[in-house]
Order: sequence, then C-alpha cells, then structure tokens
Amino acid sequence: MAAAPAALSPGTVPLGVLLRREVTKERMERPDVLCGEANRSRKGEDFTLLRADAGQRIPGDPSTSFSVFALFDGHNGSGAAIYARENLLNNVLRAIPTCFCREEWLAVLPRALVAAFVKTDKDFQTVAETSGTTVTFVIIDEWVVTVASVGDSRCILESADGSIYFLSADHRFDSNPDEVKRVTACGSKVGKMDIVGGPEVGPLRCWPGGLCLSRSIGDLDVGECIIAVPHVKQVKLSNAGGRIIIASDGVWDDLTCEMALDCSRGFSSDVAAHRIVNEATRPRGIRDDTTCIVIDILPPENIAPSPPKRPGRIALNNMFRRRSQDVPSKTKRSDYAEPDVVEEIFEDGSPMISKRLTTGYTLEKIFAPSSCAVCLVRLKSGQGISVHANPLQHEKLQGWQGPFLCPSCHEKKEAMEGKRRPRGSSTNVFGHMC
Ligand SMILES: [Zn+2]
Repeated sequence: MAAAPAALSPGTVPLGVLLRREVTKERMERPDVLCGEANRSRKGEDFTLLRADAGQRIPGDPSTSFSVFALFDGHNGSGAAIYARENLLNNVLRAIPTCFCREEWLAVLPRALVAAFVKTDKDFQTVAETSGTTVTFVIIDEWVVTVASVGDSRCILESADGSIYFLSADHRFDSNPDEVKRVTACGSKVGKMDIVGGPEVGPLRCWPGGLCLSRSIGDLDVGECIIAVPHVKQVKLSNAGGRIIIASDGVWDDLTCEMALDCSRGFSSDVAAHRIVNEATRPRGIRDDTTCIVIDILPPENIAPSPPKRPGRIALNNMFRRRSQDVPSKTKRSDYAEPDVVEEIFEDGSPMISKRLTTGYTLEKIFAPSSCAVCLVRLKSGQGISVHANPLQHEKLQGWQGPFLCPSCHEKKEAMEGKRRPRGSSTNVFGHMC
C-alpha cells in the first residue's frame, strides 16, 4: 500500500514553486502589493492617494514600476490637502533624474522627497489659502519602503515575525520637545490654551493660530516656523513581507498600534481597513475624520496575508536592526530558517534644509549646477545661492558649493530656519484648532 503523501508543514514551499522561482527569479523578487482603504468622515478634510502602479523608474519597463500610497489629513479647510494630493507626487518624480539605476533612484529618493515637500508648500502659498494638512507619503519599490511624513498621521509596519516599527514621525508639540524649542526660537509661542480665569487646557499649541503640529504643508498664516521639511525613513523588508497601516489621528486617538493590528490581523487589506475604522469609532462615535489605509506586501505566491509567526510577542521597535553586516551575532535568531529582518537604510528628521539637501547620493551627480535644488527652475549665471551660504557670516566656502537655490527658495529656507520674522502671524487666532 502506497504511503499517503506527507502533509506539508506550515511554511514549506512546494517543489513546483521552488522550481518556478528558479526559472522566473526576476518575477519572484517582486512582491505583490495589495491595498485597502476605509473612511468615516465628519469634516471631509481627509484625502488619500492610492496608486499601486504609480510610475516606472525606467519609462516603458513594467518591471521597474513602484507604488505610492498617501494620506492627507487637512485642517482649517481642505485646500492644502487637495493641493498636496494633486501635486506632491509629480514634484517628487521631477526631483529625481531619469537616468538613474535602481540603487541610485532609491538613494536619491529621501532628498527628492524633502525638495518636493518644500516646493509643494511654497507653491501652495501662491494659492493664498489658510488651510494646512498632514502628509504621510509612502513609496514602495519592490521590498524597499520609503516614508516621508509631516504632522501626526502615523504609519506603522508589522513584519512577518510580529515586530512593529514606526515609519513616520510625530510632529505634535506634546510629544516633541525639540520641535517646541525650534518653533520657540523662531519667535512663536508654544503653550496650552489659556481660558481667562480658568486653567490651561488641551494639548500644546503654537500661538497665534492654535496649531498643535510643528510641521505641515500649508498653514502659512500661522508662520513659516511651521515647516514642510519631512521626516524620512527608508527600510527594506525581508521577502516574508509585512503589513503597513497609515491612519489619521481619528484612528490613533482611540487605538494603540497593537489594538489596530489585533483587530485586523488575518483579514485582507480591504476588510482590515474597515475593521480598524470601526474599532476606532465604536466606543465614542465619529469625533473626527477617521481614515485608514492598509497595505500588504506579500511574496507573490501568497494570496492573503499570513498571521505573524509569533503573534502576541510584539515589542514596539523604534530601533531597527542595521544592515546585516552590522548586526552583532547575539541578535541572530536560530529558531527559524529565514529570520524576518527589517533593515534600516536611511532615517533623517532634521528640520535644517541645508543639511537635508546635502545628504544622500553623490551631490554633483544629482544636482544640475544650473538648477534650483528645490523648485528646479533654471538659474542664470551667478543667480544661484549656495544652501551653505549664511548671510550673517561672510566666510569663504571651499570646493563645490552646491546645491544651489534660486533667490525665492533661498528666502523660503531662511524663513524656515528662523532667520526671518514669521509673516501674517496676527491673523486668525483660533483658526487652526486640531
Ligand atoms: Zn527655487
């Protein structure tokens, strides 16, 4: 009697799949990216951008396509959120030279995101609206995830082993003493709302204006110390994949990361997004716009996300394991064959644009000497101003002095770095409650 075929143990890959991997290695290396979204609206100021096929690194070559997912949580109107949704992606892509290979494209992406956020914010000033928006902007290229964020629309990643990683920054004054110091040094006041005759109440806010965020796109009338320079983090997932959740504060005010993951684990991205929004609004109803995007990054043969290998063993990780050559041997895990390692490639949250524009790939190769590093306008001879130039100190710059800014972007840089008085700070004292 022939023996019954042994059941495959969990995690075992059938031989047919292994062979297919051998002959189609190129395809095997690209994950499937699935996305779901849910929203319950109160003010109608949350907007999303969901582009599973957002473009191609090499135009005309589908194997170089990448995905973009973004959440814009507007305040004091929806103008800034809509404007950023319509323009930010184009501004990012314009800031990346088209001739780059994949490694160069990924290396220059953090700098391109900084330039694009600042350009979008600067361009929005010409629209002369007083609204503002958070932005959490995620680009997925194969297994590499790059997240740029201003504001408090948090983005988290759960890797296949059940570890949670924060991919965005929190620019609320309440949780960011460095930003309080920066904005105060720029000449604005940061404090709680002071009701005459009563105690100070609520979160820390920037006055005048009452905005509780230190970074956003828009909010020109609050002052130019509220800057659009994003926190950028870039990581590489293992080919076991993971789940990303982006949500507005309507979700995070009521749910911890663990609660959001627990109520949605094992469900498809679409169902998961709805379950998270329902869980967040169930106890107290819809008190704010509540939006959630769930993105699953899956090995191609997986048609649905598998539960993490060790659910419940979750520890919040702010610290990433470094690239494999930097991992001390004691952190190696021997209890399963392919440890799920999330590698940090890049992280920078500095507000100084002069620093942010000069980090990254070989500078001379990125920046055409005749173009502004932010708005890309062509510079006439002698018109460009080095990002390192300090009008208060007349020191000689050595070597290559770029990147260069046009006079208008230089003025914007000076304002963001607190070297110019905030404009329009007397308007709309309570207009930006968030
Ligand atoms: Zn410029």
